[in-house]
Amino acid sequence: MSRVAGLLALVVWTGCANGPSPDTIIIHAKVFTSNPAQPWAEAVAIRGERVIAVGDTAAITALAGSSTRRLDAGGRTVIPGINDAHQHVSIAPPHDRLSLPMDPTIDQIAAALGAQITTSPPDRLIKGDFGAIAWENPTFTRAWLDGIAPNHAVMLTAFTGHGTLVNSKVLQLIGIDESIKDPEGGAFLRDERGRLNGRMEEYAQSIANQRLALKTDAAEIVRIYRRFASEASAWGITSTQLLGDSLPIAEASKRIVEANIPVRMKVFRFPMREAGAETTDSRPPLPPQPSPLVEVRGMKWILDGTPIERLGFMRAPYSDAPNARGRLNLPQGRIDEFVGWAYGSEDLLAVHAFGDAAIDAYVSAVERAGRPEVWRQKRPRIEHGDMMAPDLIPRVKAMGMLLVQNPTHFTFPEIFVQRYGAERLAWMQPLKSILKAGIPLAIGSDGVTNPFINILAASIHPANPKEAITREEAVAAYTTGAAFAEFKEGEKGQLAPGMLADLAVLSADVFTAPPAEMESIKSVLTMLGGRIVHETGAVR
Ligand SMILES: [Zn+2]
Repeated sequence: MSRVAGLLALVVWTGCANGPSPDTIIIHAKVFTSNPAQPWAEAVAIRGERVIAVGDTAAITALAGSSTRRLDAGGRTVIPGINDAHQHVSIAPPHDRLSLPMDPTIDQIAAALGAQITTSPPDRLIKGDFGAIAWENPTFTRAWLDGIAPNHAVMLTAFTGHGTLVNSKVLQLIGIDESIKDPEGGAFLRDERGRLNGRMEEYAQSIANQRLALKTDAAEIVRIYRRFASEASAWGITSTQLLGDSLPIAEASKRIVEANIPVRMKVFRFPMREAGAETTDSRPPLPPQPSPLVEVRGMKWILDGTPIERLGFMRAPYSDAPNARGRLNLPQGRIDEFVGWAYGSEDLLAVHAFGDAAIDAYVSAVERAGRPEVWRQKRPRIEHGDMMAPDLIPRVKAMGMLLVQNPTHFTFPEIFVQRYGAERLAWMQPLKSILKAGIPLAIGSDGVTNPFINILAASIHPANPKEAITREEAVAAYTTGAAFAEFKEGEKGQLAPGMLADLAVLSADVFTAPPAEMESIKSVLTMLGGRIVHETGAVR
């Protein structure tokens, strides 16, 4: 489809020698087009919001007219704008953040929090992250937090996003008391006397996050989205897919439109159901296009946790805890219900499935719900899919499912070897095997927004190097693959005639930069639909 559009655009060009000149040309560049038919070029011509030609500098310069703006890239690398296929923007009232190592002990948390409360005014929200060490310590509870910080609202979140601890002030702030019942898919954990111990798992934590987000005033929410967008543009990100924000969908999309940011945003609904409340997944979606750059489409579900807290749902027990194999957040019947609903609707389906048993539960539901030729049109997404066992790959392929992976998750080899053991480590987080099987692959950052860290992680794969892919394949997954995952491959994800002129001129060559320099790569010029939305002045 896109190739036909591209050919037409070229025909129009050559058949119309006196046609309007490009508005802008970018020349003397090393252009990675992400278009397999013509992966490399030197120059791009843009008219209006679209690319009209890609070629060598001489051919593109020949198209320029007297009013054409000429941007000389000076040999720099140009790529299609990054499309982050899986991201979150956390919305919360203004807060102070604890400075902690990645996986702190509770003594380190106590010390950091003890120091923070001497400078944060009373009632101020304080946030921080923890890892496996704190979560496994039974002392890590609401009572322990209250003992250190009785007068501040303290919310600590696992760096995996799975697991939260709050103190009594936060419970008060968000209106949760002992009478609360566990929601569908989650748990408010309790002590031996049955009182809330401040720990929250899965959908219970999502509900707490949502209630906290709703305490944030509108102007602050707009500021958060703008801050996010200005960072994104500086990294050459032109599209972001939000897979469940802390805000309810109607509020999130309204504020994103209000923020008027230069990033194409796709916002997924994240249905959740408090105990006794009505189900939201079958409600009709919001109008899909509240503004030209914002689209509301798709449903996100979370089937399990992650291996860090051993809540990724595995077929066999974790190697370092013979009684633990994680669990499904939702019963299989409920999974069948929303998968069946998606089969009969136009809505996109995006399902977080981490462990091999969770992926199996999802794939089985898809297989039961309908015919492969229909599913192939719907492109059901597996978010993460880390423990995609070899037997699952052909089933995923057969149902036309695709994988959205997050390479910064590959960077904990020590903990993976403990959790899974060598045998499972050998097939974990398959990227190369997925591409080889012909399964569409998209990359989303899911946390670490810097795309160049993710591209490096995909091309090294510290946890399972034989599943590494090339940097070109990683950039393709971050552009063309991500566009395919949102049904936009005819519009963006490649620099080819007819495509939207979303692109980034990079400060260094992402394909050849030494690994140590990857994380400092930035965009020196980001273009969104032919409009410059970020520039450092390096390209004139
Ligand atoms: Zn996520």
